[in-house]
Amino acid sequence: PLSGKTAVITGSNSGIGLGVAREVAKAGADVVLNSFTDREEDHALAAEMAKEFSVKVTYIAADMSKAEDCRRLITDAGTCDILINNAGIQHVAPIDEFPTEKWDAIIAINLSSAFHTTAVALPMMRAAGWGRVINIASAHGLTASPFKSAYIAAKHGIVGMSKTVALETAQEPITCNAICPGYVLTPLVEAQIPDTMKEYDMSREDVIKNVMLTRQPSKEFATVEQLGGTAVFLASDAAAQITGTTISVDGGWTAL
Ligand code: NAD
Repeated sequence: PLSGKTAVITGSNSGIGLGVAREVAKAGADVVLNSFTDREEDHALAAEMAKEFSVKVTYIAADMSKAEDCRRLITDAGTCDILINNAGIQHVAPIDEFPTEKWDAIIAINLSSAFHTTAVALPMMRAAGWGRVINIASAHGLTASPFKSAYIAAKHGIVGMSKTVALETAQEPITCNAICPGYVLTPLVEAQIPDTMKEYDMSREDVIKNVMLTRQPSKEFATVEQLGGTAVFLASDAAAQITGTTISVDGGWTAL
């Protein structure tokens, strides 16, 4: 259903970004992968995906903490029918001890990057007569937890910006929405399980249910495939009138 479209996904050489990129490629879109590194394996990943899904896949190195890089990513992509702003980092500390450089980096990567990419992509979408902006926010774009001030400010910010972009494009064949994942099983999260098992002397199942997923009523992780499927849905014709809103993929977290 997405053949002939090009999707640019920021922060997509691992985790959710990569999972979303794979689902979008599976649906037939050409894909531009991105991260700040420029390693052989990043370009090899693009080549493998191209082969697996028979679509065009390129990798463009660009640092989403830098305004010029964000804008160059879209310019270098050449076309951008589907923009998926996913790059994100986290830092956990009480606000009176929160390092200023961490605050600045989180706001830059998790929020401002989407401003810059969207600003360059929208004119391309208008020229093409179709477009989708999909921002990967978080349950923390709708609700808060202590010690994550920068992350929560950035994620609430990107939910707000998604609504503004939706209003600015409301009478055009362009939509903008935010996906709000709960806890997602990425390699990063998976890697924390063995240590936590040791620390609490708990089984894998108990660590997942009673430590990691305390706030996720389903007691199951969301998967990167489910997030990819949600992005493909938002890019579909069925979602043409869905704009300026959030879709939670959080096992009931924000219903609590
Ligand atoms: P991850 O660390 O696996 O992936 C983050 C991606 O961003 C990587 O590809 C990384 O290379 C890239 N990245 C980091 N800094 C960058 C920079 N300066 N420039 C370009 N790329 C950069 O993490 P993830 O869990 O896949 O997170 C992806 C997004 O999903 C983030 O925005 C995160 O906030 C959000 N999210 C994750 C969860 C979860 O439980 N994992 C839950 C809700 C929201």
